[in-house]
Amino acid sequence: MLNIVIFGAPGSGKGTQSERIVEKYGINHISTGDVLRAEIKKGTELGKVAQSYIDQGQLLPDHLIVDILAATLDSFAESKGVIFDGFPRTIAQAEALKKMLAERGQAVSIMLNLDVPEEELMKRLIKRGQESGRADDNEETIKKRLVVYHNQTAPLIDWYKQEGLYAHIHGFGALETITAEICQAIDKVK
Ligand code: AMP
Repeated sequence: MLNIVIFGAPGSGKGTQSERIVEKYGINHISTGDVLRAEIKKGTELGKVAQSYIDQGQLLPDHLIVDILAATLDSFAESKGVIFDGFPRTIAQAEALKKMLAERGQAVSIMLNLDVPEEELMKRLIKRGQESGRADDNEETIKKRLVVYHNQTAPLIDWYKQEGLYAHIHGFGALETITAEICQAIDKVK
């Protein structure tokens, strides 16, 4: 089982690269952001709660996200592996993921950190907001999300280094080059 954590700031290309990895390795994809946006669209209770956090650029409480993740993971029976996109975003979530996988006789295989300069992140997110209409891709909310990323999510870099699972990826440049660097890192742990 290949369990990949794709990590990076908002706008670092996690979603785009995940699609390519899914296609190449035939594994499942969990994007917690996509799950929450689908809940908002369906108008569920969870969707209503999620909306208020997303609009503020804040993270949802860990226990809500961990429950969603456990349910999604169990829906992938016969899976070759999973790519976790947008999760974990806090150390508590990383610990929960480790436990959840251990209970299923598994572990994270690698954490890929898509490293992108801050001005580039800003540019990409503003462009995405104009093209896709994602409500949280406006300048004010983007700035809040980047602060949240630095304070709550970036500490996971050291956490995964300590676990011996960390891989740095240059996330800025041609899409193909980034994908190639990712595949090289994955093939080492496969
Ligand atoms: P994303 O599409 O991954 O950028 O996520 C969009 C928004 O969904 C984030 O800004 C958070 O409000 C929420 N969200 C997604 N994943 C998580 C997570 N793992 N923990 C907490 N909140 C999350």
